Amino acid sequence: MTLNSFLKLEPAYRDYVWGGDRLRPGHNPTAEAWVVWENDIIESGPLAGKTLGEVAAQNGAALLGTKSIERTGNRFPLLIKLLDCAQWLSLQVHPNDELAVQMEGPGQFGKTEAWHILESQTGAKLIAGLKPNISADVLADSIRNSSIIDHVQYASVSQGDTIFMPAGTLHALGPGLLVYEVQQTSDWTYRVYDWGRPQTETRKLHIEKSIQSTRTDFTAPIIPPPAYGDGTTHKLVECEYFTLELLSAASHTINLDTKGESFHAITVIEGNAILKNEGEQVQLEKFQTAVVPANMGAYQLIPAGNCKALKSSA
Ligand SMILES: [Zn+2]
Repeated sequence: MTLNSFLKLEPAYRDYVWGGDRLRPGHNPTAEAWVVWENDIIESGPLAGKTLGEVAAQNGAALLGTKSIERTGNRFPLLIKLLDCAQWLSLQVHPNDELAVQMEGPGQFGKTEAWHILESQTGAKLIAGLKPNISADVLADSIRNSSIIDHVQYASVSQGDTIFMPAGTLHALGPGLLVYEVQQTSDWTYRVYDWGRPQTETRKLHIEKSIQSTRTDFTAPIIPPPAYGDGTTHKLVECEYFTLELLSAASHTINLDTKGESFHAITVIEGNAILKNEGEQVQLEKFQTAVVPANMGAYQLIPAGNCKALKSSA
């Protein structure tokens, strides 16, 4: 079967305590918009009403691409969220694939992720990794006695910065940030420290699993914005799980091609744009997302004035 339609998705929202009002005005707090998720519903076109996961299960490589199928089968391999942070998120860590299987069972995946800063209030900070030279013993003790926060690496970030975080990197987003996050589809997040907020059934700390998962040998670098132009494409992050690119255009069309290898997930982050192939076109406003099936081949992004979009592929 071939898939020739752009799949525009309805985001699912999460209203966690640390959220703000930028993603869904009138619904405060809204913490997260899950703009690409296996349970998101397709908004229009011949597959309207189905979930992305159902289309993946039924169409395999036509949607996901040959590269993705090889690694994770018919499961949609990426989760993409927009996060509106009005308070500090919990300090957390994710296992790698190997530890996910060891600690959570067969068929489980770890989580490597990347952030792209969409908006940043002056002085906004995040935590990415540990300070240099923290030993395994100090790490374990300080996680157990809640003094880990003395050993983490804070970073000031601005709009357009990107941070790559392999599984095992301690991380937390701070107040005043609006962030695009791309990650492996995985359920495993271990909460290391929660700023003294009460531990409830749904907000527990995971002390021993955090100690096992955290790596002490890596501090995530801040990748500054590339020198973009009109009609340019820049690779921000490339790893074994995903590639994240910045598309920037004002009047020039950008030609793109899935080549059958992977789907593309296109999220407009500034202005708006039209995605177009021979048969159809779809309009994307700011923060809207469409998944382009891997078997579509060549298509175009046509900007309507100044436009930026992020493209993730597997
Ligand atoms: Zn995370």
